[in-house]
Amino acid sequence: MAKKTTTTKKAAAQPQAEQVTPVMRDVDLTVEKRLVALYTLQSVDSEIDKIQQIRGELPQAVQDLEDEVAGLETRVENFKNEKDECNASIAKQDNDIAEHTEQIKKYEKQQDNVRNNREYEAINKEIEYKNLEIQLCERHKRDAKERIKELERHIEAALKLTERRKEELQMKQDELGDIIAETEKDEIRLRAKSKEQEQFIEERYLTAYKRIRNNMRNGLAVVTIDRDACGGCFSKIPHQRQMEIKMHKKVIVCEHCGRILVDGDIAGKAADLLKK
Ligand SMILES: [Zn+2]
Repeated sequence: MAKKTTTTKKAAAQPQAEQVTPVMRDVDLTVEKRLVALYTLQSVDSEIDKIQQIRGELPQAVQDLEDEVAGLETRVENFKNEKDECNASIAKQDNDIAEHTEQIKKYEKQQDNVRNNREYEAINKEIEYKNLEIQLCERHKRDAKERIKELERHIEAALKLTERRKEELQMKQDELGDIIAETEKDEIRLRAKSKEQEQFIEERYLTAYKRIRNNMRNGLAVVTIDRDACGGCFSKIPHQRQMEIKMHKKVIVCEHCGRILVDGDIAGKAADLLKK
């Protein structure tokens, strides 16, 4: 009789426990969904971080090259302007030389009609002065021609460098264009995934998630337990706490760094979600 009662009790206790489990699982599922959503959100955001890191260097490289090309073009422009000025100066010197020569001819004619030696000498002085002026003009011309040669060398060098930089720029622009085209699709998919998961997370958890993420240099707000330690700050997690985390009954944060902790099971479910 006593034996029979025990058997009945045992038999009754077991189905009871099995009945309780699904009810508990229902409660757990909400939290579990939230935890999966949080970890998915973290995975998605980490991927977006990676995309931005890849892009982060290229736009700067493109910008630098664009600036350099613009600078080189300005330099060439300045050299060309100076060359024009030199040519204008040469033309002016030629003009002056012609005028001085003309004036000398006039003086020489005047010398034929002088009344005395003093007048003749005075005109001679003027001719000498004009000749000196012509010499000065010739020197200015030589200087300008030298400068033109120098400028042409500078222009050639700058143009060659511009060509090289433009080729580099084209390559970087293509590379960036490809990455943007490639990552844009990923980003749109990731952002949609992120939005989809947000509906399973209440506002206060979302706010907390964003706050923690902003405070962490690596952008990690939700981490897994790795070798009995927090995957974010590597502090040991007591066994009892690890058990609680594994039960998916509530959102548990690391006592040291404040990051939300999940177990491998949640991480696996999040990974499955991301594959879809
Ligand atoms: Zn931690």
